[in-house]
Amino acid sequence: MLSLPLLASLFTSFNQALIAKQGWRIIQHPESLMARVLKAKYFKQSSFMEAKLGSRPSFVWRSILWGRQIMQKGLRWKIGSGNQVCIYKSNWLPRPEAFKPFSPPTLDIQAVVADLIDENQNWKKEMIYQHFMKEDAAMIVRIQLPKTPKPDQYLWHYDKYGRYSVKSGYQIALKLKFPDSPCSSDSSLSQWNVIWATELPEKIKIFMWRAVKNLLPTASNLWRRKIVGSPICRRCGVTNEDVIHALLDCKVAKKVWRNTGCAEEIEKLVQQDLMAVLVEIQRKKGKKELELIVVLCWTIWYSRNLFIFENKREDSQLSIARAEANLDSFRRINKPSSKILEKQQRNRKQVWNPPPSGWFKINVDAAVNGQDQSAGLGVIIRNSNGEVVAAAAQRSWFQLKLLITLFMHSEEYPEYEATHADALTECFNFGTGMLTIHAQQDILGVAVLMAVMKTKKPIATMETEKKNQN
Ligand SMILES: [Zn+2]
Repeated sequence: MLSLPLLASLFTSFNQALIAKQGWRIIQHPESLMARVLKAKYFKQSSFMEAKLGSRPSFVWRSILWGRQIMQKGLRWKIGSGNQVCIYKSNWLPRPEAFKPFSPPTLDIQAVVADLIDENQNWKKEMIYQHFMKEDAAMIVRIQLPKTPKPDQYLWHYDKYGRYSVKSGYQIALKLKFPDSPCSSDSSLSQWNVIWATELPEKIKIFMWRAVKNLLPTASNLWRRKIVGSPICRRCGVTNEDVIHALLDCKVAKKVWRNTGCAEEIEKLVQQDLMAVLVEIQRKKGKKELELIVVLCWTIWYSRNLFIFENKREDSQLSIARAEANLDSFRRINKPSSKILEKQQRNRKQVWNPPPSGWFKINVDAAVNGQDQSAGLGVIIRNSNGEVVAAAAQRSWFQLKLLITLFMHSEEYPEYEATHADALTECFNFGTGMLTIHAQQDILGVAVLMAVMKTKKPIATMETEKKNQN
């Protein structure tokens, strides 16, 4: 199925952004235990950003370097003295995506930015305009220099305070995966929000976003890329198959729309682009209706693929039933029924006691719902004040595995909440297994990382004392 790898990509990206945070910590706190241990083992002679995988990398190190790919896309130097920053090799120009000069090297290839700064901490403008293209030169001289030389510092380009956040890292990770990503401009961001704000499975949101961005492999798109010989729709044979035709206007699609009572609405909107259609539907009919229409688009595309790849014709009623079933079971998983709520309330009555000072308590549980084949796993780690230090939830729905969310350190809670609001609540609701570990704040990050990366055997590596609350 088309959307499976996409779904996997999405969550992989989220994990990558989370793990990138470990890299950020290593850069920001080189004196921390984790940074020192890793440095001694893997990058004694270089910096973290230049560190190599090495011959026998541990699982954690391998993961951290994977996360570093995100860092490399958004980390740049804030010039203090310019001594540490290589003009041609380092990221230092405040220009997203290419933080390096475009100009061909005319200075020594090892030259540092300090060579462009005079003794009064001013840019050597004449030299800069002589050695760099106008665009680069203008950008360089606009960079503010401190009045007195300071050590150069790394900052995260995508945050106004220069601090890495999982949320913005996630956007970059998505951009790596989907080059024409929703964070590329303000207008596409707000458009994306129309889709993102729906309460639908991620795979369907991603599908819809791809449709809006004209990234679906329609006959027209494949023909333009010379992959197929004709742009004509293979289902009706009447006209070119672009996204609008495939989802709204093809006679097979129209049949579905007629059977749902949305036909009139769709007919009126078919002349516009797909995003305008979605915005209009949300404005006129509200979110629930929009959700139904998005799921129907997804089902229409699904049955279109069945026809193209397996030569199967799906009855339009069956398409609608599929859409409704998808929507229904998703809503059921997300909005707990009264029975589940009751159980949760019962669970809440159990008293949770904080661990002794200097210890962390980990609650973990898994739940499986055989009826709709959904499953979930949750982990939450709290300190002796009862504050949440880290939490993770893994969930699968529609037989598709994979949703790993994690947040580290309670100050990041709002950021986490914005990304996956209900995962934390789920952790609390699961809370039946429990274990307590003694850990320094320092190594906790690594421990949690290992736990989450190995969710199939959750936190077995950290297990020191385990008991059941039930
Ligand atoms: Zn057609």
